Amino acid sequence: AKREGKNRYRVFDFGMSRTAHDRLRLENDLRRALERDEFRLHYQPVVRLGDGKVVGLEALLRWERPGRGITPPDRFVPLAEETGMIVEIGRRVLRMACSRAAEWRRICPSVAVSVNVSARQLRTPDFADEVERILHQARLEPCGLVLEVTESAAMDEPGEAAEVLRGLRELGVGLALDDFGTGYSSLSYLKRLPVSFLKIDRSFVEGLGGEADSGVLVGGVIALSRELGFEPVAEGVETPGQLERLLELGCELGQGYYFASPMPERAAEELLRSGARL
Ligand code: C2E
Ligand code: CA
Ligand code: CA
Ligand code: CA
Repeated sequence: AKREGKNRYRVFDFGMSRTAHDRLRLENDLRRALERDEFRLHYQPVVRLGDGKVVGLEALLRWERPGRGITPPDRFVPLAEETGMIVEIGRRVLRMACSRAAEWRRICPSVAVSVNVSARQLRTPDFADEVERILHQARLEPCGLVLEVTESAAMDEPGEAAEVLRGLRELGVGLALDDFGTGYSSLSYLKRLPVSFLKIDRSFVEGLGGEADSGVLVGGVIALSRELGFEPVAEGVETPGQLERLLELGCELGQGYYFASPMPERAAEELLRSGARL
């Protein structure tokens, strides 16, 4: 039994140290990436489904290293979240997105830029004050910014998250509940969230217009969203069939490869200059 215990300990220890080592290395890499300014934002248009008018741009983080190409967020955001580096990275993201938004609203006054906020950021003390400061530095009106918070982050420590969200709402920034349908929010809790948009997760939109049409389900989410006073936004619209079904179901806003993939800053600006329609 002793021997077994020892072996088990060794296996455990090996696993731990490797994870710790990986984390430490990634943390160092991310710190260096901040110093070297290797983070970029790509922007994906959010459109009015009826006519393709661009109403917003969602900022999506990319890590661009010389000679190593582009690393997508799924490969480093979760660990950055665990180590806490996401707080610093997120601050940088907000600054970049807000200064872009301020410029772009001179080209296209009604456009808003959306920024993804992680659970960890939402829990930093005085997050709302920081957002206020960044808006001020960028000379961006609060209504030019939408913060996207996942359903699970909004549910995390329910009372506290709602409190931070209320503070942000008071500033006048828009709030979106991201990846809706993947969490376990209770209706009574959702009702109290001061949110403007509800983003219907791609996994629901995927099943639209196909053989096993998920229209009843998506229709239900749209109805729920409106009932709660949130404007529904469909994620991951890829086909004309999905678009058609969404319009039938009364969803007015969406984004996805059917309209445009996330694009570098320059291309997003060009799109706005050339009439902001897809
Ligand atoms: P998300 O917020 O749900 O963003 C939507 C993701 O779906 C993006 O992936 C986008 O490129 C992708 N997408 C857009 N249209 C389509 C489509 O039609 N079909 C498919 N299959 N995919 C589509 P991306 O850019 O790789 O981002 C992944 C996730 O990383 C985001 O999911 C978000 O949770 C996180 N993320 C991105 N940027 C940031 C950031 O600045 N801060 C934080 N905390 N998280 C971020
Ligand atoms: Ca998002
Ligand atoms: Ca999403
Ligand atoms: Ca997602």
